Amino acid sequence: VGGYCPVQKGDTFHGRYRAVHKLGAGYFSTVWLCQDTVEKRHVAVKVAKGGQSFAEAAQDEISLLQCVRTFPACTPESLQAVRDSLTVLHVCLVFELLGPSLRCLMRSHGAQGLPLPFVKKALQQVLAGLQFLHGSCRIIHADIKPENILLRVDEESLQKLLHETVAWSRSTDLGLKKPAGILASQSARCSIMKMGVKIADLGSACWTYKPLAKEIQTQPYRALEVLLGLEYSTPADVWSTACLAFEMVTGECLFEPRAGKYFSRDDDHVARIIELLGRIPPEIAFSWKQKSKFFSSQGALLRISRLFPCSLYNTLTDRYNWTNHEAASFTSFLLPMLEYTPAKRTTAVKCLQHPWL
Ligand code: ADP
Ligand code: MG
Repeated sequence: VGGYCPVQKGDTFHGRYRAVHKLGAGYFSTVWLCQDTVEKRHVAVKVAKGGQSFAEAAQDEISLLQCVRTFPACTPESLQAVRDSLTVLHVCLVFELLGPSLRCLMRSHGAQGLPLPFVKKALQQVLAGLQFLHGSCRIIHADIKPENILLRVDEESLQKLLHETVAWSRSTDLGLKKPAGILASQSARCSIMKMGVKIADLGSACWTYKPLAKEIQTQPYRALEVLLGLEYSTPADVWSTACLAFEMVTGECLFEPRAGKYFSRDDDHVARIIELLGRIPPEIAFSWKQKSKFFSSQGALLRISRLFPCSLYNTLTDRYNWTNHEAASFTSFLLPMLEYTPAKRTTAVKCLQHPWL
């Protein structure tokens, strides 16, 4: 109870889904590659952890996913579709099987960032997914990051991937290291990158009219308003998408906050945002009741006094050696997504119309 569901290879859920291999694990769940013995295909089954709160979280995820499914005709391709849900002690969600995450792709690709044509196409798909979640479903995803964007993989690559995964899981007893998989070869990566991506994991999502958690999103991708404890809504996803875009393009996190001896990770995060994007206007810095958490009454940061400002444009030209033209065009795409005031921040719909894409 309260822990991961003790699934083992060969276990069958609901007399139908046979566990083949573990695909991943997050805060709420483990995800298993399963054989659907009825439809004779592979699926991904997300098994919630035990205990009341995890079961409730999984039920919330089911109702959000059901909402996404109510408009089948206009649901974009780029949203992961749920096929089935069942409860056998633990709540289980059955999904179409997808490939590795953008995190895996970036890792296998080295430090230099992904090819621009792929980045632009993937971002278009993520933004189209968000446009639908935000506009039609009134859902805030609340955890956009590379781990939650999964690659769509064609049948042939999927079979190859399954073969390697299963071969590897047999060899782990011999202490062999996990192979880099089909993503290790340049040509396989190229063919996978032609396929596109899907947004997964509505596990942290919520309705726009009922934001529940005080703290959403994974730290480096967390929007300013969330960091400051202000009200948040769909613009928070747009901020995270900007962080995702920068990381795909450069191979490095836009913000990588770290705690120091005298300041917290949040302090460092706010400082790095100011270094890149400039002063936070008082109406935002002081719109929070406990305003003393980050700022003095003069508007200075309380625990970090030395800042090293560097604009996004200069970061791209100096650190990544972009040409002036490339830097200007990407900056004009990215900065409106990082607008401090959520109401003034650009939207997924507007991003999709930006010429950079
Ligand atoms: P959590 O809420 O626990 O983070 P996710 O839905 O993000 O759960 O799933 C955790 C991991 O499992 C993902 O990062 C991914 O590696 C893998 N995964 C999830 N869904 C699928 C799927 N449909 N196909 C393949 N792998 C998946
Ligand atoms: Mg996840």
